[in-house]
Amino acid sequence: MTKRIFRSILVVSLAALLAALALVVGVLHGYFESRTEADLNQQAVTIARGTALGGIDYFEGLNISSRVTWVGQDGTVLYDNWQNASTMENHASREEIQEAMSLGKGTAVRWSDTLGQTAIYCAVRLDDGTVVRAASTQYSVWALVLQSVQPILVVVIAAMILAAMLASRLSKSIVRPINELDLNNPGGTSEDFYEELTPLLTRLRMQNHEIRQQMDQLRRRQEEFSAITENMSEGFLVLDIRTRVLSNNSAALRLLETDCVPVPGETSAFVLSREEGFRRCVEEALAGRRSERMVRRETLCRQIIASPVMQDGHLGGAVVVILDVTEREQRESLRREFTANVSHELKTPLTAISGTAEILENGMVKPEDVGHFAGNIHREAGRLIELVNDIIKLSRLDEGGADGPWEEMDLYRLSKNVLEQVRPAAEKRNLTLSLKGGPAMACGVPQILEEIVYNLCDNAVAYNRDGGSVTVTVEDTGKGARLTVEDTGVGIPAEARDRVFERFYRVDKSHSRGGTGLGLSIVKHGAAYLGATVVLRSEVGTGSTFILNFPPAEH
Ligand code: ADP
Repeated sequence: MTKRIFRSILVVSLAALLAALALVVGVLHGYFESRTEADLNQQAVTIARGTALGGIDYFEGLNISSRVTWVGQDGTVLYDNWQNASTMENHASREEIQEAMSLGKGTAVRWSDTLGQTAIYCAVRLDDGTVVRAASTQYSVWALVLQSVQPILVVVIAAMILAAMLASRLSKSIVRPINELDLNNPGGTSEDFYEELTPLLTRLRMQNHEIRQQMDQLRRRQEEFSAITENMSEGFLVLDIRTRVLSNNSAALRLLETDCVPVPGETSAFVLSREEGFRRCVEEALAGRRSERMVRRETLCRQIIASPVMQDGHLGGAVVVILDVTEREQRESLRREFTANVSHELKTPLTAISGTAEILENGMVKPEDVGHFAGNIHREAGRLIELVNDIIKLSRLDEGGADGPWEEMDLYRLSKNVLEQVRPAAEKRNLTLSLKGGPAMACGVPQILEEIVYNLCDNAVAYNRDGGSVTVTVEDTGKGARLTVEDTGVGIPAEARDRVFERFYRVDKSHSRGGTGLGLSIVKHGAAYLGATVVLRSEVGTGSTFILNFPPAEH
């Protein structure tokens, strides 16, 4: 723009300069012409007087630069200082001669063959009727220009430089306010402004406002979208048709177990995961089919769901959702295992009951042995009931709790009661039972608390050695009650320490010591329900210690 303005100003000023020059030359030309005419006129008058007095001799002594011609009454050339008069044609027809003959004076401007250029003629009639004529070449415009070419050139060059400088300054000063325009706040602060730009600036201001609003809206939507996707535990990927990741959340990267942060629109989804299941899912979705697959690696189990995305009737990409189904899978496998174990555990006593009952039914038992066989049936039925009860307790805990309100209970008193319950069994094996510590309050459902303490004490007796001891310590740590059940029994091998809390897990698979294999599961789930933690320390051959830490009672 600056260049265009500069060029325009320069062209205008040069045009003005040339016009002015032409005008000056024209004026000068006119001036010189009238001056020449007046001089010639004066010369003609003077020569006419001289000729009237001296005749042809007058011309001999005449020293003059102009051309002088003396024409007779009939137009015959009597004298000419530039040409031989006798060879010259009759001048009666010349305009200035005719005019002088009739009016006394005559002038004319025309081409002269003699002078070879345009000439001015001034003729004066003498008293005897002859005419004296003075002629001089007319200054042509070009001659004038050529004569003054040097100063004109100097003036033109100086004027051009001046015009260029002024044009440059002017164009810059015209454009400066436009360049200094604050497009974020058009016309906001500037005082020095073109009125003509007001509609444009108003439009700009409105558009800026609209753009700002749209940007704010977009940003808000983007933030909402990110907030939703980032808080999702499910992984989420949007892919284009060439498998490039357009959008993703951090859960997707976590579930695909990758450290690579995809560059939107550049990184391929296959860079994030090379797992076969994932690759196939993506490929199928990008072929236009919804696909679902399970992808397992070590303990992590994920479900990949990929759906094609249609845009204007064409396949535009795919959306991939990744779900962490590890826990669900584990639960399902535990449930399957549990069902199998329950069936097995129920079958053993039922088979025993059924077999014994059959023998009795067939009358194959001597009357004195009937009591013994009935006792077997009773014992197995008891085991069955015990097992079913434990299953019911566990399933209640699985469902999220047990019947009954929460109460504050003194663990010391509770432990004392439980120890009394196990005392008969302990006495049979000469075990010493002792209770240490003092009152400590714990909050929970009384039935669950009792079952936890009972199961720990019952195990401490059952897995003890004859003549050993069981010590229960109850204390208030200040951060909640703590119950420790310590025995001097067989201990639990290190590899089984985590597994003893599993359903139906027994270190000794022979079932020789009875038990349902569910006691410690009830302890673990019950403690979790009450917000308590269980710690197990054990040494094979020395004994085991179970420590239960309860949260503060007022909790
Ligand atoms: P069970 O009804 O068989 O006692 P539990 O779930 O109570 O079932 O215990 C699981 C297994 O853990 C037991 O079979 C036993 O092998 C082991 N166990 C539990 N408590 C003790 C303990 N105090 N000393 C040694 N082993 C124990």
